[in-house]
Amino acid sequence: MADAPHLPFSAYPGGGRELLDPPSGTGARKGYARDILRWCGYQCVYCALGMRTFNGWLQLSVDHVVPQQVVGMGFPREWIRSSANLVAGCRPCNDLFNRDPVVESVPSTLEGFFDLRDAIFLQRRAKILARRDEERAWFEEHVIEEGGTGGAV
Ligand SMILES: [Zn+2]
Repeated sequence: MADAPHLPFSAYPGGGRELLDPPSGTGARKGYARDILRWCGYQCVYCALGMRTFNGWLQLSVDHVVPQQVVGMGFPREWIRSSANLVAGCRPCNDLFNRDPVVESVPSTLEGFFDLRDAIFLQRRAKILARRDEERAWFEEHVIEEGGTGGAV
């Protein structure tokens, strides 16, 4: 029920548990990101920033959940490059936590790969949301206070 963490992948073709073609073409925002953005509900998968507006859409970036470097560990390239391994996020969220996750071993099955993707996604989202809270606290203490004082005079 409410305990099940929300994952964006359920709206992907095949419920996000099928290997999808890698995105083709260049230019993420105007090109291959359009499918990803639609599957993600036109919002950042981390902070839910709406991307149906122009200013929101300008923030769009597409991320590999399981990072591309793991191909060097023996992950099949078609798993990593699959659109099922991509999410639509906003640039600020991407900047807040862009450290690569620790991946210890190569799953033996595609199902195992999707489980790993889901686990990495949830960890990453939790860390990004925690960083956003820190930034918000700083903002409210410093920027809002300064603005309030300055505006009141
Ligand atoms: Zn975001």
